[in-house]
Amino acid sequence: LARQLAEQRSLPAPESNGEPVPTPIRLETTVNLFPEVKRSIECGAEAVGLYRSEFLELARRSFLTEEEQYEVYRKMIGELNGRPMTIRTLDLRSEKLYGIADLTRECWEWRLVDQLPHVQDVVRTQLRAILRAGKGGPVRILFPMITTQRQLNRALILLDEARESLREEGVAFAEEVPVGIMIEVAAAALMAEAWIPRIDFLSIGSNDLLHSLLGIDRSDDGLVDLKTPLEPGYLRLVWRVIGHAHAAGKPVTICGEAASDLDGILALYSLGADALSLPPGHVQQVRTMFASLQLPSEPRQVGQRLVEANDIADVKAILSEEFRSM
Ligand code: PEP
Ligand code: MG
Repeated sequence: LARQLAEQRSLPAPESNGEPVPTPIRLETTVNLFPEVKRSIECGAEAVGLYRSEFLELARRSFLTEEEQYEVYRKMIGELNGRPMTIRTLDLRSEKLYGIADLTRECWEWRLVDQLPHVQDVVRTQLRAILRAGKGGPVRILFPMITTQRQLNRALILLDEARESLREEGVAFAEEVPVGIMIEVAAAALMAEAWIPRIDFLSIGSNDLLHSLLGIDRSDDGLVDLKTPLEPGYLRLVWRVIGHAHAAGKPVTICGEAASDLDGILALYSLGADALSLPPGHVQQVRTMFASLQLPSEPRQVGQRLVEANDIADVKAILSEEFRSM
């Protein structure tokens, strides 16, 4: 089924009265650079679910000043015309900093934020820029790769400090900004229950979560067949995270490649994911898929069946039984 649907990519997106047909799961976009914001609107996405802000530093090969970041975020938020913009703070990791020679001499690892004052300074500056830009429209702050509670504590302290400094300086900023964390490693998935009361939403980074859970390096293409978001162990962990988030009334977005995998999307929908964040160029295909399927009346029951499956073949069989072409 997924293969057939993948071939429908070039078909026009289903419309009703000129509007894109609603999907049973919110479709948001993942954006790396400015032009994709415009494409997000053109494809009818409801929000930017993930802006990977480090791409701009990588493109410029240096950190941006607060003013430069503020200008970029302000323009993006303005372009979105009322749709929310989720800005992920710099996902500083050695493998992402290649090419920025003057940065690589020092340790710029985000996960050591609690120990590295220069990382704290960079993140606090970015948070100030985001809060200021939030005066122009809805913005959400997303912290990447939270793995330990001390990282979460520090991230929230930096946010308080950013707010406090703006207040003291009399600079206008958005007071009500939802704050989320990315769940990208198993330790975070297992701790989510304890952390959820302190934040407003969760975003599952399926690229990192899937790889770390299966013990596969992200750059290892030799094991590509194992990297599937239908793997029962992965589905069980996602189900657990969504269950804890929903019990606390908080939404869960799925980012990363699993959010573009057509069978994976049906599984995520069944597991109760609230939104998918995918590249703008994939949105139409997902709309077409949902419009061409008969959806199960009780998706959560399908989710329950999926997490009881032990083998990927059973997962696939359940999906093709429960989601039939119209
Ligand atoms: C992910 O890990 O799924 C994710 C969206 O983050 P990135 O791909 O930027 O590491
Ligand atoms: Mg990631």
